[in-house]
Amino acid sequence: MSIEIRQLQKHFGAFTALHGIDMAIEDGELIALLGPSGCGKTTLLRLIAGLETPDAGSIHLHGHDVTRLDARHRGVGFVFQHYALFRQMTVFENIAFGLRVRPPSSRPAEAALRAQVERFLDLVQLGALAQRYPDQLSGGQRQRVALARALIIEPKVLLLDEPFGALDAQVRRRLRRWLRHLHDELHVTTVLVTHDQDEALDVADRIVLIHQGQIEQVGSPQQLQDHPKNLFVSRFLGEINHLPARLCDGQLLLGNARWLAPEGSLLADGAVAVGVRPYDWQCGDQPGPDRLPATVTDARWLGGRYRVELDPDIVGGSPITAEWLPAQLPNHEPVSGDRLHLKPNRLALFAQG
Ligand code: ATP
Repeated sequence: MSIEIRQLQKHFGAFTALHGIDMAIEDGELIALLGPSGCGKTTLLRLIAGLETPDAGSIHLHGHDVTRLDARHRGVGFVFQHYALFRQMTVFENIAFGLRVRPPSSRPAEAALRAQVERFLDLVQLGALAQRYPDQLSGGQRQRVALARALIIEPKVLLLDEPFGALDAQVRRRLRRWLRHLHDELHVTTVLVTHDQDEALDVADRIVLIHQGQIEQVGSPQQLQDHPKNLFVSRFLGEINHLPARLCDGQLLLGNARWLAPEGSLLADGAVAVGVRPYDWQCGDQPGPDRLPATVTDARWLGGRYRVELDPDIVGGSPITAEWLPAQLPNHEPVSGDRLHLKPNRLALFAQG
């Protein structure tokens, strides 16, 4: 186990930022701490780093209790959203910094140090820019320098707080793929804080979804997307339609439609919410007992697929959004006023809330 957190609590005055967090991260995992603004992601990361002290609970890194250990002795590297590089130093010297400030007994000789910096320059693909200064770099290049600077001290754990948050969407996407490759190459345990679900889904082995200082769910991106534990998780992990239904003897009743409830549901009979992702609707032009009739109110061609808004025949039901490839549609392109008959390929079931 690389990081083990037990019953961690943090208060700021009367406000509780973290309510007893338990979490275990394996060696070499890339974990994303995901959640809405103010949920406690950064606080948790800062506690792991040793930049904050918890009010209760403990933090173990590689089996050692580091709860009271100073940040400098935890063997962690961090990169923040606005990680100020040393402006008066070249890229090369910025990266070399962590080695130069080591005590003489563990500091490498100059030739070895230079070789090590060259290796990390290559790793972050900045070899050609070694003699530039930070203000001669793009935002993405600066963050790569910050990563190399954090990694050169060979941390056991790498902590990243929205490292690409200040960059534009395209650079962000490129850098996060690159980060994933770097992580795989170096095999360092990485904890990434992000509020961007696409980023978390794209790079993480597992996502820890936090809400109001508590963990809502931990799992692989697919587990969280396909088996969200509650309405909050299902909403946070991408667009989803929530429909009111009644659960009765293993069947779900929505208007006149009846669908089979997923097996293993622990919910009692009565009012429930059904969640269906826009891409999980089957579309037909014929009614049937398992078909929910709905009227198209808007249809747009998004290049490659249609995005369709529909009004279902359910009292009190809110509009439904569906996305279909042309081949998934009966006969013709959808237009406002069409009557379609829907059935979910997959659904999630929640207590109504
Ligand atoms: P964001 O995505 O907006 O950065 P976050 O999930 O990282 O949010 P935190 O920075 O961990 O959130 O903050 C969690 C809560 O604790 C917030 O309500 C914040 O206002 C509060 N908080 C954080 N640091 C302090 C502090 N030093 N003093 C008082 N309250 C704080």
